[in-house]
Amino acid sequence: MRLLTFKGGVHPEDKKELAGFAPIERIKPPEIVYLPLSQHTGVPSKPIIEKKDEVEVGMKIAESNGKLSVPLHSSVAGVYMGLVNYPHPLGGRKLAMKIKVDPERTEEWKSEEKEVGTLSNKDIIKIVKESGIVGMGGAAFPTFFKMQPPPDKKIADLIINGAECEPYLTADYRLMIERAEDILKGIDIIRRVINPDRVWIAIESNKMDAVERMKEVSSSYPSFNISIHKTKYPQGSEKQLVQAVKRQEVPEGGLPFDAGAYVQNIGTALAVYEAVCYSKPLYERVVTVTGSVRDPSNFLVPIGTPFDYLIEEAGGVIGTLMKVINGGPMMGIAQVYPEVPVIKGTTGILIQNREEVFSGIVGPCIRCAACIDVCPMCLMPTEINKSIETENFDKAEEMGVLSCMECGGCAYVCPSNIPLVQQFKYAKNEIMKRRK
Ligand code: SF4
Ligand code: SF4
Repeated sequence: MRLLTFKGGVHPEDKKELAGFAPIERIKPPEIVYLPLSQHTGVPSKPIIEKKDEVEVGMKIAESNGKLSVPLHSSVAGVYMGLVNYPHPLGGRKLAMKIKVDPERTEEWKSEEKEVGTLSNKDIIKIVKESGIVGMGGAAFPTFFKMQPPPDKKIADLIINGAECEPYLTADYRLMIERAEDILKGIDIIRRVINPDRVWIAIESNKMDAVERMKEVSSSYPSFNISIHKTKYPQGSEKQLVQAVKRQEVPEGGLPFDAGAYVQNIGTALAVYEAVCYSKPLYERVVTVTGSVRDPSNFLVPIGTPFDYLIEEAGGVIGTLMKVINGGPMMGIAQVYPEVPVIKGTTGILIQNREEVFSGIVGPCIRCAACIDVCPMCLMPTEINKSIETENFDKAEEMGVLSCMECGGCAYVCPSNIPLVQQFKYAKNEIMKRRK
């Protein structure tokens, strides 16, 4: 079997067996949901309802507010309690719409399936925008915008990202097993709009049952290919996927379009299908809740559900809670407040107890070059770090710190436990501040 791969990368223990066997389960809604106005790249959306208004599942409650903005929909039925400054899973506090849930009226979305045939590309893009769809692999870039590549960029390859390379996370895996037909219909809608020469569904070799399932259902789509990728982190990053599939690098500072590729996540393809064929806005998503919880799970949850509610739904923490992470262990963000809400880009919640939280002592660089060997962006992490330690941000920039995608591979292999990613984040912030 030929496995596709990219330069560099690391092999962390994937721990997918924890939640991988748990079928997707719809949870009962919490008492309150918090829907941040900022859940996408771009300007936050703008509320269009008043305090004490009644809301329904899927009702538009905030309008898009600029070129890269998308609308927001209520994930529950209930009463709008007003705007609050609430902890956000990407850091700090941000404005969120607080809704008191009416569990009796909060029902599953019901609608007849519609034919896509008569819709133009323009119609599809409009539906995708109005449905509030963003990249669900974590990036949260508005999908309607991405579906309109610059006219001078010919897209030869549409790559559907089913790699899910972050350890522990299994939401996309479960979707491929349980919703394969619907995902393919979503991919076919994206294919119609993008008009590529080839379609690839990229899956890592640690999910062979998902490969088989997707192969089985894709036999009726002649232009669809399943590409099997070496299990290696960060295989699911856009640039590494393009490199693996096309054997071509995305130019520095460029996007997949610049290498003739378009990458979209599995969950996003499903959201596109549900929006176009069932008029269902993006108001719920699958979230893996895993790590040191009693029942690692894949929950279908209303957007806005607090993390701590989901941790309890997953049986609660085993041992003493030390860390709640939005996402996986490599690129996830540790949370200060466990009550932060699920947003459209939340792929998983990882719980770590006292035994699992890293407590290694930071030592000096021993010049082993392990960080250089694994960097998928071909950077020299140790050298960049030296410039940052001496506050020489110009040098760090010259050495490409802005191309660092913060995958964490270098820090993972560093025997001296140097917090390289924190250093690079700090340098990027400093460089941006100085530019302003
Ligand atoms: S330097 Fe950046 S891109 Fe390279 S391995 Fe480290 S975190 Fe990943
Ligand atoms: S892996 Fe760590 S110790 Fe080795 S060269 Fe890089 S920074 Fe230095």
